[in-house]
Amino acid sequence: MSLSESDREWLLQAASLAGRGWGRVHPNPMVGCVLIRDGKRVGEGWHEEYGGPHAEVNAIRSAGDAARGATAYVSLEPCSHHGKTPPCAEALLEAGVTRVVFGAPEPGDEPGGGGELLAQAGIEVVGPAADVRPFHDVDPVFFYTTRYQRPYLALKLAVSLDARIAARAGERTPLTGDEANREVHRLRSGFDAVLVGGETARVDDPLLTVRYGMDPRIPPTRIVLDPSAALSADASLFRTQDEAPVLIFATEAASAERVGTLRDAGAQVEIVPAAEPIPQGDLPQGNLAQGGGVVQREGGANLEKMLERCWSLGIRSVFCEGGGRLATALTREELAQRLYLFKAPLTLGPGGVPAFGDGDSTPEDLGWSSTGEPIRFGPDLLLTYDYEGSPTAFREV
Ligand SMILES: [Zn+2]
Repeated sequence: MSLSESDREWLLQAASLAGRGWGRVHPNPMVGCVLIRDGKRVGEGWHEEYGGPHAEVNAIRSAGDAARGATAYVSLEPCSHHGKTPPCAEALLEAGVTRVVFGAPEPGDEPGGGGELLAQAGIEVVGPAADVRPFHDVDPVFFYTTRYQRPYLALKLAVSLDARIAARAGERTPLTGDEANREVHRLRSGFDAVLVGGETARVDDPLLTVRYGMDPRIPPTRIVLDPSAALSADASLFRTQDEAPVLIFATEAASAERVGTLRDAGAQVEIVPAAEPIPQGDLPQGNLAQGGGVVQREGGANLEKMLERCWSLGIRSVFCEGGGRLATALTREELAQRLYLFKAPLTLGPGGVPAFGDGDSTPEDLGWSSTGEPIRFGPDLLLTYDYEGSPTAFREV
């Protein structure tokens, strides 16, 4: 049985409710649910807190007796297993829901999802949707990491109208306004870790904590990719260690003394292999950062190994905030899944550092495709892209 137009509308509403769990439920999925009876919404809910009631249970509670005879629209197939809470499939049956429509199927190889259980109990079950993308977009981190068992990595870049990330190389140029900066902190709050390159850590001396009154369930770990462990022990990161851990990735090139200094300052330091140098003839003509610089010098870290180590440390999602050189390398090596591109209404001119290639290139030239309309934050725009170029690009069907 396929989805009617109104089924799809209600499902999309369930999907939009799911996002309210951002920063509070991962590594569990964000899920939303609406209950509809006689064309009217009688209940709604979402998974609000890790370990707490699931979306369906919250929706049933909000509907009370009105759940009886209703249709439940859920962004993800109701669960059938006993986890931290009893299965939602049972809760829906008990509440007297007579029809269940869901968007995305429960991922993984285990047979016997909640849809099957409900159908066996005589409920009309419709799902998964033919086009699951809107329902995966609710929580791409969850679906990607469940499938690939590797960290989901998102890049954040702020650029001028002429696609420059800074007025000059090695200089910090604040581009975005307060509303966009607030959105950056909201985005951070939904990731396990925030990552910057060593040069960005040195030039910006950032805190990388979640502020603006946001309250992530687990503050993201602050990662610095610092191959030679050159970061100063006086960096602001070390003054805020009660707020979030600091993790530094260095290579064998780092001296034992430097590694010891950073450990004494309170950081966890992990050693990963150095990157293979790029053959001279293979140098890029331009890149996200330094307008033609080498994306990965000898002595840089092996980024894939770094992400593997992240996974083994329990870090499932990484929000990379710079610099451009690191973003370029992650894109080139097909290790990034998403790009959050903030565009500020000013120009930096030809002397500025181009974000893409020689300055005329676009994210599309590098394999990114837009996920939808830009979103406005004050004077700035946020454009979101997914990477489509790699074998592990997330194009679930
Ligand atoms: Zn459930």
